[in-house]
Amino acid sequence: KTGKKYGVRIEGLAFERDILRDMPIWHHVFADPKIRRLTNATTSKCLRSKHELQTVGEAEDLAAPLIEMNGRQSSHRPNNQCNCRDCTEIREVTTCEHPHLCMVRSQELLDTLPPKWDPRVEQPEDYEGNFNNIPRLRGEEIFDYRLTTTGGLSEIFRVFTDRNHTPSNDTYIRRIEMNNNINLSIVATDGSCINNGQDTASAGAGIYFTENDPRNRSLKLPQAVGNIKLTQSNQAAELLA
Ligand SMILES: [Zn+2]
Ligand SMILES: [Zn+2]
Ligand SMILES: [Zn+2]
Repeated sequence: KTGKKYGVRIEGLAFERDILRDMPIWHHVFADPKIRRLTNATTSKCLRSKHELQTVGEAEDLAAPLIEMNGRQSSHRPNNQCNCRDCTEIREVTTCEHPHLCMVRSQELLDTLPPKWDPRVEQPEDYEGNFNNIPRLRGEEIFDYRLTTTGGLSEIFRVFTDRNHTPSNDTYIRRIEMNNNINLSIVATDGSCINNGQDTASAGAGIYFTENDPRNRSLKLPQAVGNIKLTQSNQAAELLA
């Protein structure tokens, strides 16, 4: 509630699985409203009290024996008498007497999550390669092409002054296979603003590959995009670059 008042929101095009898994499963902000009925059901009591289920990741782990991995069926049998390793461990550790039922309930909870928030489905992260391992030279920065927000739960909160904007829950997946021979291009970019801070300010940016390269550009920051007026400033110029 405090978040709503001050315009603190969770926003990003995509989040890494570690973040998705750290989200609380009960009262998950982006879950389908039908999660409330599941939350209040009797079977959820066992998930809370005996399994001490709190996060999306814990729900994913609990429900894991229900899905076949890489075409290999798990040894779990879909009934509460099942004696597979997972069920045996659950009975010992949690004293739950109906592990199968609790696995199914866990899966139902996860099924209320939109794909963007569901760690079980394909995420942009799956196509983004290992950005941190790309070798870089001194003084060289590599353009961060990733859509995925990384770095943990605290990274996902953004403060917005415009309270009426609703973040999108759509997933954007660019299915580009990242292989080991990524072609890196060296590009110089810079932005600048003439008469910065004045009414006559004019912002622009330049992109330079090599001499006479057709990809070289000089760009002027437009005055507006649709109905949104853009401020001509140094910061805007650097962002454009
Ligand atoms: Zn129980
Ligand atoms: Zn089992
Ligand atoms: Zn249980």
